[in-house]
Amino acid sequence: MAIRNIITKKDPMLYKQSRPVTKFDDRLGQLLDDMAETMYDADGVGLAAVQVAVLRRAIVIDLQDGSGIVELINPEIIASEGELVDVEGCLSVPGEYYETIRPAKVTVKAQDRHGEWHTYEEEGRRAVCFCHEIDHLDGHLFLEHLNPNPKSDKDQERQMKARMAESEDNVEVAPDAIKVK
Ligand SMILES: [Zn+2]
Repeated sequence: MAIRNIITKKDPMLYKQSRPVTKFDDRLGQLLDDMAETMYDADGVGLAAVQVAVLRRAIVIDLQDGSGIVELINPEIIASEGELVDVEGCLSVPGEYYETIRPAKVTVKAQDRHGEWHTYEEEGRRAVCFCHEIDHLDGHLFLEHLNPNPKSDKDQERQMKARMAESEDNVEVAPDAIKVK
């Protein structure tokens, strides 16, 4: 396993369409293992292959909620409902956290590293994360889903600090890096 370099929003590759995974081989397994290690090293809860400069439809997610790691290959959102306002960040947009509007519930169909199909029904933070990562595969960032009427700056800041406190060794964000549009 190896930690790979995470590209940021200045990199044009981040806005490209990722291609479907067609070979469920050791190379895919290696990519997924590296993505997991890279995600944990960066204290992230999700990572898409494009973020490590591989244009393939592969994602790793671990919300650190006890459910463990999920690997999504060639994922598709097959149903979504409701609306959820939450604060999102992205390993490719370091230090920026904004309120977004996402579906409150999603149903996602995806393959695993062996090519088997599974269906995931997710809600709340998990639904937000699934949508965020699947967006990456089509070249989209969370900055396209900003809540046009965010709560006060202070509310956002408080939520942010609470979230940062949960991952104690997160050194990525200084409080003065929090900017609200
Ligand atoms: Zn992201």
